[in-house]
Amino acid sequence: MSKFWSPKLRELTPYVPGEQPRERLIKLNTNENPYPPAPGVETALREFPVDHLRRYPDPESRALRDALAKEFGVEPEQVFVGNGSDEVLALAFQAFFCHDRPLEMPEITYSFYPVYCRLYDVTRRALPLDDQWRVDLDAFSQEAGGVVFANPNAPTGHGHDRQAIARLLSRITGSVVLIDEAYVDFGGESAIPLVAEHPNLLVTGTFSKSRSLAGLRLGYAVGSRELIEGLERVKDSFNSYPIDSLASTLGIAALADHDHFEACREAVITTRERTRGRLEELGLRVLPSQTNFLLVSHPDIDAAQLFVGLRERGILVRHFNTDTLRDFLRISIGTEDEMDSLVEALEPLCA
Ligand SMILES: *Cc1c(COP(=O)(O)O)cnc(C)c1O
Repeated sequence: MSKFWSPKLRELTPYVPGEQPRERLIKLNTNENPYPPAPGVETALREFPVDHLRRYPDPESRALRDALAKEFGVEPEQVFVGNGSDEVLALAFQAFFCHDRPLEMPEITYSFYPVYCRLYDVTRRALPLDDQWRVDLDAFSQEAGGVVFANPNAPTGHGHDRQAIARLLSRITGSVVLIDEAYVDFGGESAIPLVAEHPNLLVTGTFSKSRSLAGLRLGYAVGSRELIEGLERVKDSFNSYPIDSLASTLGIAALADHDHFEACREAVITTRERTRGRLEELGLRVLPSQTNFLLVSHPDIDAAQLFVGLRERGILVRHFNTDTLRDFLRISIGTEDEMDSLVEALEPLCA
């Protein structure tokens, strides 16, 4: 605490991202992609004219938005881009959720949402998951001041199909429904085709996970023109140039390589399912997952103890020390070799 801090700042509890360790660990704690970005990204990086850095980038990021619009079959005016999807989410909270009615979200979902609620003084209404740890879509109400959840959800891993999201949208028409699709490429079904019919639907996504570009910081939102215009108004009141010219160039190069994208996501999915079986053989319970991570628990062994044991063996996973999640570990899917090491390290710990 400092006497220079504003009262608001004193009250904040910032989001704590997964550790980025200095020592060499097998890193399965922040859902990064174990495979490199598309080869075209490296080429574009080498060929990038450094002299371009003298100039400010395009404040509207038209080239990147055009590429995303083509990818998703929408108009460029229906695409917004930001410095990571966390930034896009923050701008969306400011644009659409700052009013009297409470924002509804699952009790267990991306833990950054409650942080934004406190930052922007948004009242939060947390709804329990259903008895199978799925987001309970029927629980969201028409009176909500907005709805937000990740689909597939984090850190639980379950995703609802597009039909279920369409049913939700046929009920909730009076406020913005924000669906965070950070993990959709690992087996989920995108709601983007629904934006044509639902002016209150905003779908966010990221280059950090399925495109192997967490270090570049690129995220996006797809929605109706009126929602995208709302995001632009907040952005232009905050930072005119969230996307630097290098990030834009590399992002476009990543989008151009469909084969690499498909190969990486298929490899992650295959490894995930193989790992699931091996973890179950060790007596762990593993929730179904349409993401690049598994949420696991052991009926007898403390998750915190497993976390420490793995760390001693050079493997970093994520343990959330909250009431609802303390019995679980979230394990990101790495390469086959990394998952071999994980299973090998778990064997004595689970024996
Ligand atoms: C990783 C993640 C993000 C953040 O992605 P960035 O684009 O790296 O900021 C957003 N939402 C969820 C649910 C995530 O897991």
